[in-house]
Amino acid sequence: PENGVSGSSDTGVKVIVRMRPQSKNEEGETIVQKTSGDSLSILGQQFTFDHVADTTATQIDIFQLVGAPLVENCLAGFNSSIFAYGQTGSGKTFTIWGPTNALLEENSSSDEQGLTPRVFERLFSRINEEQDKHADKQLMYQCRCSFLEIYNEQVTDLLNPSQKNLHLREDTKTGVYVENLTESSVCNMKDVTELLKKGLSNRKTGATSINIESSRSHSVFTCVVESRCKSMDGLSCLKTSRMNLVDLAGSERQKSTDAAGDRLKEAGNINRSLSQLGNLINILAEVSQTGKQRHIPYRDSKLTFLLQESLGGNAKLAMICAISPAQSCRSETYSTLRFAQRAK
Ligand code: ADP
Ligand code: MG
Repeated sequence: PENGVSGSSDTGVKVIVRMRPQSKNEEGETIVQKTSGDSLSILGQQFTFDHVADTTATQIDIFQLVGAPLVENCLAGFNSSIFAYGQTGSGKTFTIWGPTNALLEENSSSDEQGLTPRVFERLFSRINEEQDKHADKQLMYQCRCSFLEIYNEQVTDLLNPSQKNLHLREDTKTGVYVENLTESSVCNMKDVTELLKKGLSNRKTGATSINIESSRSHSVFTCVVESRCKSMDGLSCLKTSRMNLVDLAGSERQKSTDAAGDRLKEAGNINRSLSQLGNLINILAEVSQTGKQRHIPYRDSKLTFLLQESLGGNAKLAMICAISPAQSCRSETYSTLRFAQRAK
């Protein structure tokens, strides 16, 4: 409310399609047009989502649409996540982090900053506001961040990459956690920027026959936000929620024709974990619409197992499906739009 946004109270998943501008080496006419605030047309076929952001949408617009609500939802006590889905080159990384060089250079143009730095700027300013407002109750927030990568169903700590193949554990008290994962306290933007720089420089990029620098891993930046206050009877009460910012692996059909060994196994794992995420979101959307109980297959992939507490129940999700308007991306764009449609 103070900032003109409120946490969304609707259940299910918010699905946004973001179309990036055509790049210099993509010739010809574009094949996707935004037709209203929430719909687009591709070669005459209409699709409707919660929102469509076209090439005129700025990084600030995207922050207002999903970033600000993420912070409000998290402060309201909901586990809240933003996922970026789409083929390699569609704009996932640009959306979630911003141009990576902009993060790595000090004082780079702030217009291009992605969601993550903007979300933390807002989080810290809202925390200060809340702490001032509830000073009488001695309200205090603490934030801890971790940054990991899931590559080929193996979890690596991006803040300490010598820690590979970490184990996921489940505990009745704490829920699912990654054993030995680095967690750093953050109090300000400098702390967060440092973690982002460190983690992003440790991300895996593999040269493949399709893309020179293709992202075949999921990266997950998580912040646990804890608040404590003195309650009426003098005891301190504790509230915890988490925020996840997830840059998913490229959704393109992983070609296995010229891949062998590790690459082939890797391709299978990427396809499987993304389609499992899609299935799961599909089931969650159905459960929230119909209220019917269904078995939710969290354990089918590392990604969904790790994020299960942020996917089900009262969790808030926003899925940003990134697409290119170019003719040459047609079939991958259709496949992304179908994924986005299923999540609705
Ligand atoms: P992905 O992470 O999906 O592989 P990137 O985020 O790396 O894709 O984007 C591919 C290229 O397109 C990058 O050069 C990026 O800067 C550019 N790009 C992506 N989205 C936009 C946008 N909305 N506006 C301007 N450039 C963009
Ligand atoms: Mg990327």
